[in-house]
Order: sequence, then structure tokens, then C-alpha cells
Amino acid sequence: MVIYMVSDFRYFEAIAERALAGRDNRRAIEARVRRQIERERIAAGVTAPPVDLQRMSRHLGVKEIRCVPLAMNGRIVEDDGVVVEINEKLSPFLRKVTLAHELSHIVLEPGRVNRTRQRSGIEDGRFARGSTEIEALCDLAARQLLLPARWLLQRIGEASPSIGLARAVGEESACDLGFVLMRLIEMGASHCRLLWWSRVGTGFCATQSYPRTDEVFLARLTPAGGDVSLLRDCEDGTRGVLTLRAGEEETRYRAECVAIGDEKVLSLLIFKE
Ligand SMILES: [Zn+2]
Repeated sequence: MVIYMVSDFRYFEAIAERALAGRDNRRAIEARVRRQIERERIAAGVTAPPVDLQRMSRHLGVKEIRCVPLAMNGRIVEDDGVVVEINEKLSPFLRKVTLAHELSHIVLEPGRVNRTRQRSGIEDGRFARGSTEIEALCDLAARQLLLPARWLLQRIGEASPSIGLARAVGEESACDLGFVLMRLIEMGASHCRLLWWSRVGTGFCATQSYPRTDEVFLARLTPAGGDVSLLRDCEDGTRGVLTLRAGEEETRYRAECVAIGDEKVLSLLIFKE
């Protein structure tokens, strides 16, 4: 299926394997995080999914959830109780992801939350920003909360990721298509990549990938010649071959593409059976 094997694409294809291999050292920490969030979810009586985040918030002692203008996605503040503030500019689904992330801080860092409350708040009642490490773990916990691993595995069995499957899981769990696909890849579908495209004139440019690659590589990536039509004319999960070009080099992938909004396309690339 892969016609040309070249350095740029080898790099692209190696990203997920490297990301997954690098997770070996972190696996014990991540397993603990998943267990903690799972325990709280069950203690809260929140059945999944779609998860009832309001109920989860009450269980964790959150007094109020406010959508307000913010320079960040979300934060926890002390105001006669624990209050979660969420950026009002976020889409409804991103608000949900942000709330799940902030609740994860409460589960994973109870000491910090309590200390801050006793001092009636630091930084003007705002909690100190966490380290990159704790932020990544709260992201992981949020994904586990919204799409619990055990539920997802029971739901999909051995099936390989596809737009159709992710769409069905997304409808059931009230999660965005891209979020579900990222979670499926994170949970082991390392032979898949996601690429988001934006329409630019008559062509498309790659704006984002999962697992993440650097922006220099994305900027060089274009759909080759006739395959632009697969992106331009795709409907809900149109299958085809997507030839990608990076500089002089090309490689072909089995792909499924779906239009998300007027100007954006999400493609799921499958390069190993
Ligand atoms: Zn955070």
C-alpha cells in the first residue's frame, strides 16, 4: 500500500510508535490516574456514558460552574466554596472537556485544592497553574472520565477505528468525532493517524495531526494532485486513497475523510493492517 518510503513519511509514521513507546515509563502513573478517576466516578454514581458531569461536580464538592470571559480554557477559584470557571468562548463540547479537566485537578490534587482554600485562595483566589506534567495527567483523566477505557473496549471490541464506528460511539457518549478517534488511537490503534485540513483557495493545508507532529512538517504536507478531490468532495466517512506530498516526495495512504464544518476536513489515515 505504501508506494514510496521516504524520510519525511517515515518520520510521520514513526510518531505514534515513539509516543506510545515513550509512555512505557509513564504507564504506572497513568494507570493510577485512571483508577483514581474511575473510583470517583463510581462513588459519584455516575454511569457512563454520556457522563453526568453536573452530578460528578456535586460529588466533588463544587459549589458552582460558571461560564465567564477567560484568557485560559478553565480554572478553579475559591469563592465561598470551590467554583469552576470555564471560558465562555469555547464550543459546548470543549466546555465539557474543560470541566472534566478541572474536576480531574480536584481528584488528583486534593491537597492543593484544600491548601488553597484554607489560605482563602492564592493569586487573588486563583489556584496556581499546575506543571505541564499535572496538566497532561488531567487531560488524560478527562478523556478517561468522558470515555472510560473499559466501556469503550466493550463497545468496540476488536474493531479497527473508522469514521462510522467513531461517529456511533460519539453519538452514544455525546463526544466529538475527533475526540473519539484520538481516544481510540491513544488506546492502541497505533496504525492510524489523524490529519485535520483547512480549505485554502482550491487546495487544502494540514493544520493539525494526532499524534502531534511539528508545524514545520505539517506546513510541507499537501494532498497530491487528483487526491484533492477526496478532501473536497468527501461526505460522512468517504473512503479512498490519499496521496500525500512533502516536498518532492509522495506516499499513499488508505484514508477515510469527513467534512467538519464548511472549511475543514478530518482524515483518518490507516497505513498498516
Ligand atoms: Zn489544568
